[in-house]
Formats: sequence, structure tokens, C-alpha cells
Amino acid sequence: MEYPISITPHAERTVTDTKSIPFGKVPTEHMFVAEYRDGKWQNARITPFHDLTLSPLALCLHYGQTVFEGMKAFMMEDGRINIFRMEKHYDRFSKSLDRMCMPRVPQSLFTEAMHQLVQLDSKWVPEEADGSLYLRPFMIATEDRIGVKIADEYLFMIVASPAYQYYANPLKIKVETHFSRAADGGTGMAKCGGNYGGAFFPTQMAKEEGYDQVLWTDSKTHEFIEESGTMNAMFYIDGTLITPALSGSILDGVTRNSLLALAREQGMKVEERPLAVKELKDALEAGKRVEAFGAGTAAVIAPIASIAVDGKAYDCYVGEDATMFTLKKELYDIRTGIAPDTHKWNYVL
Ligand SMILES: *Cc1c(COP(=O)(O)O)cnc(C)c1O
Repeated sequence: MEYPISITPHAERTVTDTKSIPFGKVPTEHMFVAEYRDGKWQNARITPFHDLTLSPLALCLHYGQTVFEGMKAFMMEDGRINIFRMEKHYDRFSKSLDRMCMPRVPQSLFTEAMHQLVQLDSKWVPEEADGSLYLRPFMIATEDRIGVKIADEYLFMIVASPAYQYYANPLKIKVETHFSRAADGGTGMAKCGGNYGGAFFPTQMAKEEGYDQVLWTDSKTHEFIEESGTMNAMFYIDGTLITPALSGSILDGVTRNSLLALAREQGMKVEERPLAVKELKDALEAGKRVEAFGAGTAAVIAPIASIAVDGKAYDCYVGEDATMFTLKKELYDIRTGIAPDTHKWNYVL
């Protein structure tokens, strides 16, 4: 093998009842680490989960060269384990790394590291229908040098944590017309750490006003919808599934991509295009049945109960027969092997 991975297993299995633990709080027993030095990936290993030692001069701590992915492994109907859309996540990871001037991870190393880690911690993959093992591959610049520069040394790591339903209730959100998450030509299409740090303040303000999340709009005019929180925003209005077209300021979500493919396949009308806040408001004001939801790996589908435009809240449809739930079920069926995986989205261990 080009990149041999050494494995040091944890001395004993310590899986506990993880269902009551908040998202991301409890890591599995193992983690993967590889080092980038002298232009090469080396020392790839799976070890018991441990803290890192970093120089305070490490560049990631100062200038934000950090990139991550979020993906999931599922327990299938037949008891095998499926890592969902690993290739698509790998491709996006690579795009994010390119944008941040960070070295790509060879696909064979990424795939093998995922495979070995999930295999070793397979007991942590929840069996419950709403459970999965959340996988977090990420990279940080570790070179110890405080001057502003592209780092020459990095760590690529993967950690994992059991995950269940992300949001307990449908969300109340507001259209954000002052702050922006991302701008044209910026880093919105990359899953890099700084995007999230910068979004905290507007989100906290929205929470103080009684909302759960913001609906981001474009940074120039604030007239067009972009994303909701850290999810892609999708709408189902008059039999059409509508979502903002991808741009430099919208993340190319794997869940978004999967849902669009499923919808198209069953002949649903699908539109990826600019969606004006005004168009949405008009539909809501006209009393149309509007389904709105966030799409992302962590929550899969987060139903939106209401959207406030200029301080006025409009209700969206969240009934059990909503189309978003049908799509969610179809995705679930593919991931768990109930429905055939015609797209080759599953990587089954
Ligand atoms: C991760 C993320 C999404 C969702 O992408 P998935 O691949 O579906 O998980 C959407 N928007 C932002 C800003 C994200 O960080």
C-alpha cells in the first residue's frame, strides 16, 4: 500500500448508551491521524482518541487554515455498515482544501482511513432508525511560525461520534438582511472554519429575537435567498422543488444534491435558480402551501415552521404528509439498503 495505516486499538471497548448525549459530545474510541511534512503525507495511523499537542505558533490558530467535512455511516437493514456518499464528500473536501491553499489528501488514503476507522469503531454505529455515526474528517495547519504564510505542515484527522435527531422541533427562522455569511469571491463554497465563526454573531442576535436560525441572503442586495444556518435552503411550492442555484457563496451540499436527484428521478418539477425573498413572501402572503426546510448531513431535513420577513412571521407547512418527509424517507431507504442504491451512493464495509 502506498500509504500504510498503522492501527493501535484501544485496550478495551467502552461503548455506553449514547442516545442521551448531545450531538458531537462523545467521540468514539479511535481517531485517525496523518501528517503532512516535506511535501508528503506520512505516519498515517489509527490510535485511541487523544488530545493534540500543538505549538502556540501553529498557523491554524492564527490565520484560519482549517477545513472540515461532515458525513455519516449508517447501519443497514442487513447489519452491514454503509458510509454514505464518501466520494462526493471527498471531492468537496478537495475543493475546500484547494480554496484554502492546503494540500489534498490522496483519495486512496482518505477512503482507507475512513474504512478502517469505521470498521474498528463499528460498535458505535447506532442501530436505531434515527441514529448514525457522524464522521468528521478535518485538516489543520500545524507549522509553528507566527508570520502570515501558507503553512508547510498539516494534520489530517478523522474523528467520529454517534448522532441522533439534530433538531427536536421545526425551526422558526428570519430572513437576514443586514449580516452576510459569505460574499461573491469569498470562501462560502468551502467548508472552512472561519465561515462558521463569522456566522455566530448574527445567529446569536436572531436567537435573542426569538428565532432558531437565520435565512441568509446574498451579500450585495439581500434580496435573494442563499442558505439557512449551516444547511442548504429548499422549498416546495405548488408542486415544484425550488432551491437557490449554487454560487461561490453557497455550499454544494451533498444532501441537497441527493434530494434533487431523487426528486428529478420521480418526475417532480425541480428548479435550481435565484430565489427572491419577494417571491417567497408573495407565495406565503397569498396563503399558498409552502414547505421550507434546511438540508444537511447532520439534520438531513430540518423542517421550517415559520419564516419572518422584515419582522413579520409567516407559517410554512410541516404536516406529516409534506413532500420533504417523503424525500427524507426515500433517502433513508437508500442508505439503509431498503431501496436499491441505483446511484452507487453507498460504500458498504
Ligand atoms: C455542511 C454544510 C451544508 C450541508 O452540506 P451537506 O453536504 O448536505 O452536509 C450546507 N451549508 C453549509 C454552510 C454547510 O457547512
